[in-house]
Amino acid sequence: MPGISDVQDSNRLGGAASNLLLDSFGRYAAKLRVSVTDRCNFRCHFCMPDKPVWLDERSVLSFEEIARVTAILATMGIRRVRLSGGEPLVRPGVEGLVRMLTALEGIEAVSMTTNGALLKEKAKALKENGLSGITVSLHSLRPEMYAQITGTKNMLDRVLDGIREAKAAGLFPLKINCVVTRGCNDSEILDFAMLAYEGDVTVRFIEYMPFDGTKFWERGLVVSGREIVEKVASRYDLVHLERQYGDTSRKYRFKDGSKGEIGVITSMTEPFCGDCDRIRLKADGKVVPCLFSTDEYDLRSLLRNGTADDEIASFLRKAFWLKSEGVESMMKRKVELKHVRPMHTIGG
Ligand code: SAM
Ligand code: SF4
Repeated sequence: MPGISDVQDSNRLGGAASNLLLDSFGRYAAKLRVSVTDRCNFRCHFCMPDKPVWLDERSVLSFEEIARVTAILATMGIRRVRLSGGEPLVRPGVEGLVRMLTALEGIEAVSMTTNGALLKEKAKALKENGLSGITVSLHSLRPEMYAQITGTKNMLDRVLDGIREAKAAGLFPLKINCVVTRGCNDSEILDFAMLAYEGDVTVRFIEYMPFDGTKFWERGLVVSGREIVEKVASRYDLVHLERQYGDTSRKYRFKDGSKGEIGVITSMTEPFCGDCDRIRLKADGKVVPCLFSTDEYDLRSLLRNGTADDEIASFLRKAFWLKSEGVESMMKRKVELKHVRPMHTIGG
């Protein structure tokens, strides 16, 4: 197992590595994903339990608490923050949090993943408060299937309007996330590819992970990234793009120069745990170093009992050092993958 000094000596990190947040496998954290609420106005079947039990308001971190943790993490190398949920846009005033986070020293970009239902109203304010990228989840282009997957009624047009508004407001990069499940929306892969090809957006197909609230997940429902790419390549010539350190997806552009891109997030078949550079903060103040591990570390009590910043930094260091090796190693060891927590409590 590499030690801290191996990582510090690496050319890639140069001399600036001494204060980085490191784990025991030699990885460092550069990205923070914050779940700002566990609540949601949708009921996607691969995410929510039938009867969700929400956190009570007092146990949810305030914007000031989230900003404080982010500021401390920024001193340890965190550069990019993604706001997620539940649905981040149902939390009142979330654009104010965007403003607070973009103002922090060291933070280079704040982005958001949303279901898009409230995007039409919020896109402009998000942009004005400094949001850079936006990812909109869109799992079907057919109204009935969309309604079935998301547990909503008549929402598809509203979400498509939201995507147009985000584009008009200049929120960039604009990405579409599509969780593909077999027998459900896998017949729409080429429709989504066409959306990327003609619509100048990045469409990212996500393999179905075992974090559904209903616990219906099984291997047979996962459509692999490989299968998805083969399907897209049956119609479009694709060029594989070089992967950057920490990327979660395999990326492809269209050979004929069309501006859109395709990505596949292959967490269930070919994960990239070896250079995972993410740390997660749940709405209730639990720090989660690895999405596939049950390990969580309660920061909220420290934030609320007068603990000083340097002690919080040291707590975060210890928590991140214990980050598990990840799903790749579980798969190699043939550990059975189980439901860890519903996705709406962690934000993806
Ligand atoms: N509500 C927002 C949304 O839907 O975009 C943000 C939160 S959602 C939990 C974050 C991302 O996780 C979304 O792109 C969603 O589609 C994805 N997701 C939810 N459940 C999933 C699952 N079981 N497997 C893979 N991705 C999932
Ligand atoms: Fe809500 Fe997003 Fe989960 Fe769908 S995936 S239920 S929109 S949190």
